[in-house]
Amino acid sequence: MMSELSGTSVLVTGGTSGIGRATALALAGLGATVVVSGRDVERGKRVVQEIEAAGGAGHFVAADLRGEASARALARQASALVGQIDVLVNNAGAFPFGPTADVAEADFDAVYGLNVKAPYFLVAELAPAMAERGRGAIVNVTTMVAEYGADGMSLYGSSKAALVLLTKAWAAEFGPRGVRVNAVSPGPTATEGTAGMPEALDALAAQAPAHRPGTAQEVAEAIVYLATDRSSFVHGAVLPVDGGRIAV
Ligand code: NAP
Repeated sequence: MMSELSGTSVLVTGGTSGIGRATALALAGLGATVVVSGRDVERGKRVVQEIEAAGGAGHFVAADLRGEASARALARQASALVGQIDVLVNNAGAFPFGPTADVAEADFDAVYGLNVKAPYFLVAELAPAMAERGRGAIVNVTTMVAEYGADGMSLYGSSKAALVLLTKAWAAEFGPRGVRVNAVSPGPTATEGTAGMPEALDALAAQAPAHRPGTAQEVAEAIVYLATDRSSFVHGAVLPVDGGRIAV
């Protein structure tokens, strides 16, 4: 049976957990072949098993994303495994918070290496081939705290603000050749990654009209929209999925 994403290959970074896992499952459910990436082999295998149990096609490629070499290696491995990558979801991210004065240079480099350099060089490796084929979609996962100044979010927020601008720059660069580049900007979302900080999540959620944290599935819905032809006229957009926080 033909489904919406039959014949489409997707790479989801950070697909072993949270928003990335929900996205991988949703895209596989639409018929895509999904390459799930992350560092944790066990979690990766489990997500692939979940995809297969639901009748989908999934693969796991381990990668510790720290910058150019790791990003290009992942892109090449994933492309070789499934033939080509048609959709890239730049979701893997680290979200530390705290005072600027407490950040060591190594922390700064690790956050920028994962949140900025890795998506940058994944796009450098994959988008030209998409453009040559005249077709592709890239979805970056940013954050609402890239949109306004928040105490304690200097490192994290600034790294994702770079990704917001890259979303627009890449839309300008690759859009004319058929590659749509967009971003989803989540608010506080209940995931494995935020499970240890329920008070912080609730405090952020209290500032927004929805008055609750979101779920990984709710964010994945927006990623699916931007990754598929449902959003065929949407280029360079940053879609808030934040319970309304940046609107108020
Ligand atoms: P999560 O549950 O902690 O998952 C993070 C994912 O990133 C995991 O799959 C992890 O895989 C992967 N990852 C972490 N470090 C990595 C590295 N060095 N190399 C490769 N992969 C790495 O996080 P989440 O809450 O779903 O967040 C996903 C994205 O949404 C992030 O970019 C985050 O900034 C953004 N976001 C989240 C929220 C929220 O409230 N949850 C809000 C706004 C934006 P392994 O552990 O297997 O490596």
